[in-house]
Amino acid sequence: MKIEDGILDGKAVAAEIRAEVADRVAELTAAGHRRPGLAAVLIGDDPASKVYVGTKTRACEEVGIDGRAVILPSDTPAAEVREVIDRLNADDAVDGILIQLPLPEGLPERELLQRVDPAKDVDGFHPLNVGRLWLGESGFVPATPRGILELLRRYEVPLKGSRAVVVGRSTIVGKPVAALLLAEHATVTVCHSRTRDLAAVCAEADVLVAAVGKAALIGPDHVKPGAIVVDVGTNRITERAEVERLFPGDAGRLETLERRGGTLVGDVDFTRVRGRAAGVTPVPGGVGPLTVALLLANTLEAARRRQGLDAS
Ligand code: NDP
Repeated sequence: MKIEDGILDGKAVAAEIRAEVADRVAELTAAGHRRPGLAAVLIGDDPASKVYVGTKTRACEEVGIDGRAVILPSDTPAAEVREVIDRLNADDAVDGILIQLPLPEGLPERELLQRVDPAKDVDGFHPLNVGRLWLGESGFVPATPRGILELLRRYEVPLKGSRAVVVGRSTIVGKPVAALLLAEHATVTVCHSRTRDLAAVCAEADVLVAAVGKAALIGPDHVKPGAIVVDVGTNRITERAEVERLFPGDAGRLETLERRGGTLVGDVDFTRVRGRAAGVTPVPGGVGPLTVALLLANTLEAARRRQGLDAS
């Protein structure tokens, strides 16, 4: 794909990937194999989590994957969650299991994530899959980092020998993105809240990935002219003055603010970075849709492996 208007169109790449997954699911079932299945476990009533699970299960159905949500009340005891996971692990029709985070307070997140069968761990959060990623062995790579690499690949962004800077060191995004960039032979620097002179470090990057969770933290000073900038952050801002500052003259943003009481912005000051970078992902419409698309791809892979076929 070619970068147009300084934008890396995650939505378009995601649509491409989803269409490919749909074709491959159809081929799989036409060849007499079982339809892939994904179970999303949602515990509690966090509104954002509900939306995410709804989006994921709907996306499954659109590509022919059997997507189901297992919804549990927020006061479900850990023992009961363990039983649900065990049941899904044993259910042959379920190829992928994801446990929507964050879990309600008091539930042992790490223990529960580790209870998921690594062969069904399509989120790639199980230590076995984390280890495989760093070892360069095949396993499940978390959907967001995989989506970012897929975006860079489809836009033919050169990574070998390039300087890559990842801001954020979470297990879900920052660290796996760093591992994948390293595997592509980029020279990778990982920044975090204690990094000194963040702007200067970021400004060395040919490829800059921001996964922080702080609205518009990354401004033009952080960006080398001509760099590729991937914005993972999803932050909701609700102040009109802030919306006007970040998106001057953008009537659509103001309309969203009025209608929904807030608007989503990334970790990158999109308006000011856009002209300086060679390409930047928008929020919304960048990394978010890729995450869903790559979750579907991971589920298809799980189904293929579990039926004795090669993953790809
Ligand atoms: P975490 O809160 O787990 O990690 C945030 C990271 O940012 C930490 O490593 C933290 O450093 C670092 N950080 C915090 N403040 C600063 C700062 N001022 N300067 C430099 N680094 C800083 O977040 P996640 O990785 O889970 O998510 C990051 C963002 O991405 C969030 O907005 C989240 O909503 C979004 N997200 C979007 C997805 C999508 O599909 N679009 C998927 C997943 C996440 P330290 O380690 O020192 O605390």
